[in-house]
Amino acid sequence: MTRGGETEAARYISSNMAALYVSAVRTLRTRSQIFLAPRRFQSAIASMKEILEGELEGIRQAGTWKTERVITSPQAASITVEGTEGNILNFCANNYLGLSSNPEVIAAGKKALDTHGAGLSSVRFICGTQDIHRELEQKIAKFHGREDAILYISCFDANAGMFEVLLGKDDAVISDELNHASIIDGIRLCKAQRFRYKHKDMRDLESILQQTQGCRMRLIVTDGVFSMDGNVTPLREICDLADKYNSMTFIDECHATGFLGATGRGTEEFLGVDGRCTIINSTLGKALGGAAGGYTTGPKELVTLLRQRSRPYLFSNTLPPPVVACASKVFDLLMEGEANLPRKVAENTARFREKMVAAGFTIAGDNHPISPVMLGDARLASEMSDALLQRGIYVIGFSYPVVPKGKARIRVQISAVHSFEEIDRTVDAFVDVGKQFGVIS
Ligand code: PLP
Repeated sequence: MTRGGETEAARYISSNMAALYVSAVRTLRTRSQIFLAPRRFQSAIASMKEILEGELEGIRQAGTWKTERVITSPQAASITVEGTEGNILNFCANNYLGLSSNPEVIAAGKKALDTHGAGLSSVRFICGTQDIHRELEQKIAKFHGREDAILYISCFDANAGMFEVLLGKDDAVISDELNHASIIDGIRLCKAQRFRYKHKDMRDLESILQQTQGCRMRLIVTDGVFSMDGNVTPLREICDLADKYNSMTFIDECHATGFLGATGRGTEEFLGVDGRCTIINSTLGKALGGAAGGYTTGPKELVTLLRQRSRPYLFSNTLPPPVVACASKVFDLLMEGEANLPRKVAENTARFREKMVAAGFTIAGDNHPISPVMLGDARLASEMSDALLQRGIYVIGFSYPVVPKGKARIRVQISAVHSFEEIDRTVDAFVDVGKQFGVIS
């Protein structure tokens, strides 16, 4: 190696050393970032976990923890439940017509899977509207005798997306104090002046209608049926007040569509006030096949505007074809005169309620299949429902804060597919357990 060569070599080594040094520093820096970053994230995550664990413990302490039993069969009158032996009689689903596992409904869903696919990967206005979506909307409007209808992925979304489109700051929304959470949330999102009337209290409603006469538009808002009590809104009186004070009416028919009234048209039919409500929202996720979906039906200008402006409609995926087809089949069945289904629900309901009252129980509500067995005490409701499960009857106890303090109950829900024998067996089980817990003598 020449001197020059030595110099070259030295230069080579030293420049490489420098490169090595720079690379080592870079590596260390990167590593230290990598080491430091997770520590920072971990502490944020650790503190989040601590905060949430505190919240969870609060729920446990308050006795309001909700556990989910795992069903291992289709939804039906008789089901299998993880951790229990044999078949269990199901008295706590919203499967009022028993159509969740109806063979014709299932066949329609399977067929649509083949003909229209699993889903649309799109919102409605981009490329998420199929022929079957429009057909279902037309069937819904026809079923309710309204001008048009619009589908949502749930009724929660229908309620969340309607009020802010219809009502502005010059308008008033007047809502029953016990309306469903989704109505409360929907109203929160709108800019209208908000008023709440006492539950089913027509005097209170009238006084608010008197106060708000200067508003551009007014909308009275009510559940058709209140799901904790199984009681029906006084719709005739509400419609009379709406006429008197030139107001519109909105009704949430989730616990009425398909089975309440002689042909299942809901609260309007049940109370003989057909066609008087301005707007109806309802769900496909309860009596109407029980899959999912919700809708608004009413004046065509409203439905058209909802398609332009309603946020859950514009910014959320379209209903999957099998779900649309199942609901569509249910409407066919109802419109082709499966009127014996609503009648069967009514007969079953009357049988359960009469036998339970004769046995000494107090049942709340207005002859609705939601038949709350009133017990008062939260622990009693929970222990009795556990004891009933041991006897093969699946019912759920409800207590505060879902219902007022001291008004704990077991909410029994009757379906068209319960047989008289199953209803009688359930009453017998209630009688045994009721005696055991000292509720009846
Ligand atoms: N409105 C009422 C009165 C309900 O009971 C429910 C469901 O529990 C909803 C709206 C929401 O319906 P969905 O399950 O279709 O979102």
